[in-house]
Amino acid sequence: MRIVVIGTGYVGLVSASCFAEMGHHVICVDTNAERIAQLRQGHIPIHEPGLDAMVRNNHQQSRLHFTTELRPALANVDVCFIAVGTPSSADGAADTRQVFMVAEDLGRYLPAACVVVNKSTVPVGTAERVERAIGEQLQQRQVSFTVSVASNPEFLREGCAIEDFMRPDRIIIGTADTRSTQVLQTLYAPFLRKNPRLLVMGRREAEMSKYAANAMLATRISFMNEMACLSESLGVDIESVRLGIGSDSRIGYDFLYAGCGYGGSCFPKDVRALIHTAQRHGLPSHILQAVEERNTIQKAGLFVKLKQHLGTLEGRRIALWGLAFKPGTDDIREAPALQLLESLIQAGAQVHAYDPVACDNVAHTVPTQWIDSAQLTLYASDPYQALEGAQALVVATEWKPFRQPDWKRIATLLQTPLVIDGRNIYDPQTMRENGFTHVGIGRGMQS
Ligand code: NAD
Repeated sequence: MRIVVIGTGYVGLVSASCFAEMGHHVICVDTNAERIAQLRQGHIPIHEPGLDAMVRNNHQQSRLHFTTELRPALANVDVCFIAVGTPSSADGAADTRQVFMVAEDLGRYLPAACVVVNKSTVPVGTAERVERAIGEQLQQRQVSFTVSVASNPEFLREGCAIEDFMRPDRIIIGTADTRSTQVLQTLYAPFLRKNPRLLVMGRREAEMSKYAANAMLATRISFMNEMACLSESLGVDIESVRLGIGSDSRIGYDFLYAGCGYGGSCFPKDVRALIHTAQRHGLPSHILQAVEERNTIQKAGLFVKLKQHLGTLEGRRIALWGLAFKPGTDDIREAPALQLLESLIQAGAQVHAYDPVACDNVAHTVPTQWIDSAQLTLYASDPYQALEGAQALVVATEWKPFRQPDWKRIATLLQTPLVIDGRNIYDPQTMRENGFTHVGIGRGMQS
C-alpha cells in the first residue's frame, strides 16, 4: 500500500517505520522542517530502541520517505494516518488544533478518496468532526469523492515502542464503513500473526477506549502511591504489599509500583482531558480528580523528602539520576525529575544530573541561565560524575544501570550517604548495611 503518516513524533515515526518494514511505501510528513532534514540525513530526532536502524534501513531501501510537503505526498495514497500532537490546553482539554489543521489540509489537497485514519489521542466525537472538516473542503472543491475517517488509537509505550507496534496486545479499529475496516484489517494482519486480537468497534468507542485505558493505568499508579503513603505512616513496607496483592491474578503485577508519580506525554494530559470532558457533560469525575491530585502530591514528594532530611536546600549540592519520565526514552514531558529540578533550583540548590539520553532535551527546555550559572550541570556519559561532593543522591528514573551500582564508589563520592530512591529499586536493609540512609516511597519499615 502507499501510506502517508502525518506527524513524525514518537507515534508517527514508529508507525511509519514499522509499516515500511512490512514492505509498504510510506511517506512521513511533518511541518517541522528541521526534523525532516535530520531524518533525511539519517539522524533520528527521538530516542527509541531499535528505531535508528529501522528508519535508516527502510529509507535506504526507498520504502520510507520524509517531506514537509503534504500535497505531493498524497498522490496515489491508499491510507493516510494522522499522528500529530494533542497536548493539554490551559483548561485541561485536549488541544486538537493540530489534528484539525491536518484535516483542512487533507480536504484541500486529497486528489482522490483514500482511507483516513486518526492515531492521535482525541476526545470522543473527533473522528466525526474531522470527517466533516475534510468534507467541507472537498465540497468547496466540488470533487466527486467523499472521505471516511477511522479511529485507530495507538497503545505503544515509549522505550519499547517498536516491540509494542510489531507485536501489539491488541489493535483497536473504530470505523463507520466496511472499506476502512477491510483496509486496516489487511494492513495490520502481519502484526497480528502471533496474537490475532483485532477489535473492530464504533469510532466513539475506539476513542473512548484509549482514554479509559490510560485513565485506568494512571489510577493503578495513584492507587499504589496512596497505599505507599499510608504504609509509610503505618510502618509497613509497600514492596511486600505489592507482592502480596500482585500475586492475585485479578490484580496482577503490572503498573503496581509506588514511586514519584507518573509523567510523560500521555497519562497526565489524557487524565486531564477526560476530567474536562466529564465536566463539560456536567458529570463529576471523583476518581480521576483524585488520581490527578495524588499524582501532584507524589511528584512533589521527592523534594519534601529531601527537605525532611537536609533541612534547608540553599547551597546544597544534589545529585539526580534520571531525567526522562521513564527508562528507555528521552521524553521529558511532565517528568517528575523536571519538577524536582525546578523546586531544587528555586530553593537555591545546585543540581548535578545524569541521564543517558535525555540531557539534550533538558538543556533545550530549562532556562539557559541555570546551566550558564552552574545551578544545573548535566552529565550524559557517566552517572558517577554527578555524585562528587553531593549531599544526597535522588533516583527519579529507573534506568537499568542504576539498579546495581558500585555502592563503595558512591560512598566515596557522596559527601553525605543519603539516597532518595524515587522508584523503590533498592533494598532498604542492604542499603543500611552499606552505611546509607535510604529513603524510598512507602518503605515504612524503616521508621
Ligand atoms: P509528538 O509531539 O512527539 O509528535 C507530533 C509531531 O507532529 C511533531 O513532530 C510535529 O511537528 C508534528 N505536527 C504537528 N502539526 C503538524 C501538521 N499540521 N502537519 C504535519 N506534522 C505536524 O507526539 P507523539 O508523542 O508522537 O503523540 C502523537 C499523538 O499520539 C498524541 O495524540 C498522543 O497523545 C498520542 N499517543 C502518544 C503516545 C506516546 O507514547 N508518545 C502513545 C500513544 C498515543
